[in-house]
Amino acid sequence: MLVVMQQGATEAQVQKIIDRLIEDGFDVHRSTGTIHTVLGGVGGKDSFDTAVVEQMDGVKEVHRIVSPYKLVSRAFRPQGTVIRIKDVEIGGSQVVVMAGPCSVESQEQIERSADIVADAGAKVIRGGAFKPRSSPYSFQGMGEEGLQIMRAAADRRGLLVISEVMEKEQIPLLSQYSDILQIGARNMQNFNLLRALGKIRKPVLLKRGIAATVEELLLSAEYIMSGGNYDVMLCERGIRTFETYTRNTFDVSAIPVLQKLSHLPVIADPSHGTGRRDLVPPMARAAVAAGADGLLMEVHHDPDHAMSDGAQSMYPAQLNELMGQLRLIATAVGRSV
Ligand code: PEP
Ligand code: MN
Repeated sequence: MLVVMQQGATEAQVQKIIDRLIEDGFDVHRSTGTIHTVLGGVGGKDSFDTAVVEQMDGVKEVHRIVSPYKLVSRAFRPQGTVIRIKDVEIGGSQVVVMAGPCSVESQEQIERSADIVADAGAKVIRGGAFKPRSSPYSFQGMGEEGLQIMRAAADRRGLLVISEVMEKEQIPLLSQYSDILQIGARNMQNFNLLRALGKIRKPVLLKRGIAATVEELLLSAEYIMSGGNYDVMLCERGIRTFETYTRNTFDVSAIPVLQKLSHLPVIADPSHGTGRRDLVPPMARAAVAAGADGLLMEVHHDPDHAMSDGAQSMYPAQLNELMGQLRLIATAVGRSV
């Protein structure tokens, strides 16, 4: 249930509604907009009579949310969510570019990557220190040492860090080094991990599962938000279809669909979405044209010798050229890069 307060409703009026909802067994989540405060009540009885709160002072309207997800729905925060991390805003007017290698491989590689990423004008460096690999014999990541290397390189160039957390025991370690915690496609429905992420106060980028519907992605985000962590980004990274030419089928339409259904920022990953570096720039351009709030892309100083995902990692020159194109496209859709 959503309770939309009147413009100018007092704090005492808001508190009275919160108390009443809690009394009736709801968990209450608050969204303070510039015009209206919205209270999301979840978990109460379906039989609850909304007229009870409708009549209370300061209430503008009350809606039952029919969708299975509540807090992630657009109605909870009609104005959209902006996630602020240091001087970067995700979900605002700027399209935030996150780029870097698939995996952290060595100090030299990450130092070079930080220069490539920062010189291109991107804001966030990516790189996995814990890697979910399809084969147990593939490179599994450098672990904490990799995170230390990334943090140092990012700080040297004034970048934010995004890195993947694979299990809930790794959350404290990742939180120490990374500004954004990435949840991989294979973990989108690891509900214990999602619940644990709800308890922390670090931004999370949640990737769409390999065969997940939009609704399943939103329900996974709801797990995190219902724990009280509202800083969640949704990531379209391609889904598995009958098509085999590309590694996955990059679902560009999911970008406006997610933005229509949810207030959370939407990030596009055309690297995993296509699996081929020649297709990353056109799909990145399409994603920005479609309204993506950010991009997550793989780039490597020597992709032909990368330890993972070399085929989909761009050459540095490709990233530079792409950034110039993205600036033009962003302007055309009222954004900047
Ligand atoms: C990655 O970002 O390198 C990765 C493993 O992504 P995904 O979970 O989308 O496969
Ligand atoms: Mn990868």
